[in-house]
Amino acid sequence: MRIRFWGTRGSIAKPGPSTVRYGGNTSCVEVRAEDTLIVLDCGTGAHELGQQIVAANPEPVRGHLLISHTHWDHIQGFPFFAPLFRAGSEWDVYAPRQRGRSLQEILGGQMNYTYFPVPLGELAATIRYHELTEGEFELGNVRVTTRYLNHPAPVLGYRLEAGGVSVVYATDHEPYSRHHTEKRPADGAPVHAEDKRHIAFLAGADLVIHDAQYTLEEYPEHLSWGHCPAEWAVDFAVAAKAKRLALYHHDPSRTDRAVESLLTRCRQRAATQADPPEIFAAAEGQYLVVVRPGAETPSLAGSGRPTADDPMTSSPEATILVADDDPDVMAVLLDTLEPEGFRVLSANNGDAALAIARTEHPDVIVLDWMMPGLDGLQVCRALRADPDSRLAEVPVVLITGRSDATDTAAGFDAGVTDYLTKPFKPSVLLARLHAWLLRTGRGASSPPPTPSR
Ligand SMILES: [Zn+2]
Ligand SMILES: [Zn+2]
Repeated sequence: MRIRFWGTRGSIAKPGPSTVRYGGNTSCVEVRAEDTLIVLDCGTGAHELGQQIVAANPEPVRGHLLISHTHWDHIQGFPFFAPLFRAGSEWDVYAPRQRGRSLQEILGGQMNYTYFPVPLGELAATIRYHELTEGEFELGNVRVTTRYLNHPAPVLGYRLEAGGVSVVYATDHEPYSRHHTEKRPADGAPVHAEDKRHIAFLAGADLVIHDAQYTLEEYPEHLSWGHCPAEWAVDFAVAAKAKRLALYHHDPSRTDRAVESLLTRCRQRAATQADPPEIFAAAEGQYLVVVRPGAETPSLAGSGRPTADDPMTSSPEATILVADDDPDVMAVLLDTLEPEGFRVLSANNGDAALAIARTEHPDVIVLDWMMPGLDGLQVCRALRADPDSRLAEVPVVLITGRSDATDTAAGFDAGVTDYLTKPFKPSVLLARLHAWLLRTGRGASSPPPTPSR
């Protein structure tokens, strides 16, 4: 696979004298595997890529655009991507499925006449839209595996495999646990099940392109913003035995000099480990060829569900049971979930939560750990022991102020599905619930938009 970085900056484009080396354009990576052209994200870096594609190809071009999520810094180049203005070109656009709005509506939104002169419908190329959940599919000779990441919006990471090599694109991702400084994944497996899945997603990759927006010092000021300290990106890559790690999604305030010093620290951190990955900071314009003769592609656990154009079960609104004894927290949870169209049931203690679960069979349960009567872990154990499989298997998200590794392990031992440490942004919980609903086939509260292929 051939890789070229066209935009490496996070959050907002930051051109200028302080970002000449690593670049100021936002997320965009070109991937070519034989005849297959894949563009990862369509931030402002897509402008120059589009210009080059059009200049190099007098004939119409066929390509695939894989969007991690639809935050601005990942789609602002879309209305400026020249191949889309070319009649005869064909582009397939993929992004995570969202509640209530189709991908076409979301991309068209930023091209509404208030913001942009050309409406989406006037683009001359043939564009097909595909909404994804977790799973696997093929684009030409490239096998694509998708995996949800942790961010205040539904985000997918993409693992691309072709010709015996693998590249993982995982940006806009915050670790699920916050205790890695105590026990790094490199020293032993992390205790949060979702961090383990993340490492499995990166496993053995020849190249991991990973969110590295913060430093460990900056991170406490940005809890729940959905980004990763660079040092933990290193730990994940080490634990996953990745061959190379590209630090990516550089913070807009990170100067070239600051990127260099962060890179040095990351290399020193990795050097203490056996067989560390080669680490570099992704730079705009950088070109890589990823090869590994005779490589085997590692299989991924638990990712067998189909995704592209997967006909989603059309379902009535999902039911979410929320149990918390703190009225302020409950108010925030209701304010977050109800406008999304969920049927929200609430309980202010563990016993009530268990009773409601037994009669209402919610699609997801959000449990506070510390509650009067049965606590969150006891409720979860009771659910898991229930002969009714709807209770034994329902996704349970534990919310707690406890962030220690031992506490997280205790949560998973009790059978929780996910573990979310307070404080968190409501949008993070929303994105996590969204992921669990889709994983269990309960994601669509409104009928899903018809795939255009
Ligand atoms: Zn971003
Ligand atoms: Zn984002």
